[in-house]
Formats: sequence, structure tokens, C-alpha cells
Amino acid sequence: MKVKLHEMSWTEAKEYFMKNDIAILPVGSNEQHGPQNPLGTDHLIAKALAEETAKRTGVLCLQVIPFGISSHHKQFWGTIPISPKTLKEYVKETCLALGYYGVRKILIVNGHGGNRCALVEMARELREKGVFVSIFQWWEAAGKLLPELFKSEERGHAGAEETSMNLVLYPKIVRIDKAVNEEPSKLSVESAGVSLPLDTVDETNSGVFGKSTTASAAKGKKVLETVVSELVKHVKLFKKAKIEDLMRKPKV
Ligand SMILES: [Zn+2]
Repeated sequence: MKVKLHEMSWTEAKEYFMKNDIAILPVGSNEQHGPQNPLGTDHLIAKALAEETAKRTGVLCLQVIPFGISSHHKQFWGTIPISPKTLKEYVKETCLALGYYGVRKILIVNGHGGNRCALVEMARELREKGVFVSIFQWWEAAGKLLPELFKSEERGHAGAEETSMNLVLYPKIVRIDKAVNEEPSKLSVESAGVSLPLDTVDETNSGVFGKSTTASAAKGKKVLETVVSELVKHVKLFKKAKIEDLMRKPKV
């Protein structure tokens, strides 16, 4: 059975949509992840998690939306940022296109934390239009396991935690020999109680926050298994849930 929308014909898609009101949409970003990881890290991980979950549950999965909100990484070559407004509209129109075919429940597998606020706002707006969106983030789903496997300095952007996920999913495109450890620095004006519009380049030269040389495929595998099983659990519950129970009508 096919589960990727772009591999189906329109007649196969019709068959799916006639019987199902749920779909999975992976969203990520294309931004620097240190000298060792691919720029596509966040969307490649989201895609892998979404497709594996689709395979295990029979729920339709869309192509990954590869670009996200990442202008704070722009001084590192190859980062392709889009604005929060553009991401929100693009994802919203994609969801509404699914809504046209009767989809009422959409799971977004978000691979980039910077997208979260825009996606949460969008989910509220879609609820008003009769589409219920849930947003999944792998590092939150593995929130208990991750601190057991990685020290806090290994858990930053492009650190050992993220690099380990790439090592298990995409070993051929990780240059582990290029991995570095870099303690993030502080901008001179940083003070207690102050928030600043920092870019990544203000805090790190390599793009890595903390330690990345300790990444391992074995640790990545443990995280991957936990994350996919959490995701499958959610999709099964979401699939079973009735839309009228998720979006209650005014009380009588
Ligand atoms: Zn990332």
C-alpha cells in the first residue's frame, strides 16, 4: 500500500481520501548545522520520521516542506530562510488543500524548533476553519531519554544529540571527521533580564553549540526508536479520534 501522496495517482489518492480524514505533513528548514551535518538536517529528520510513521500506520504522508524560519543562521553559507508569515501561509494553504478532500486531522512533524510559534498560530487559525492540527517535535517526544543519553553540552544546535540522529538516518552525508566542540560565547551587551535579537554567528564560529564529536549512531538509534514509537502512538490515537470530539460545538 502506498502512503506517500506524491507517489500516488489521483485515483489512488481519491481512494485514500474517500476513506480517511487524516494526513501527516513534515516541515523543516534548510540551515547550517555545523561543518559536519547537512544543511537539510531539520527537514531530512522530519521527513524520515513522518515517512516511517506513515508506513507503520497506513496514514498518508505529504512531501516535506524544506524551508523554515532560520534567518538567524544566514551568515553561514547555504542557509535558506523564509519569513514566519510565508511559512505560516504556505503550510496553511497546504493544509487547506487537504481539507478540500475531506481531511480534518493533520499531524505536522516539525523538525525545526524555530518554526514552532508560527505553526502553533496557524493551528489555531485552522481550527476556526474546521481542521485540527497537532504538532510533533522529536526532541520533546524523547524528553526523558535525551538527558540520559547526552550531557547538556551535547544537546545544543548541531551538537552530539542532533548529529547522532543524522548518523543513524543519513550516515553517508554526515562528515563526522569535521565535527567540532565549541563553547558558545556571549555578546558584550548581554545582561540579566535582557533579550537580544541574536544571530547564531554572535555565539559560535563553527555553527555548533557545545559538543558534537561524541555523536554516535548507537545513541541515535535509541532516540529514533523512542521517537517513532511515540509518533506511532499519537497517530493511532489521532486516527481513531472523532473530529466532533476534538472540536467541540457550543454547549447546549
Ligand atoms: Zn536542527
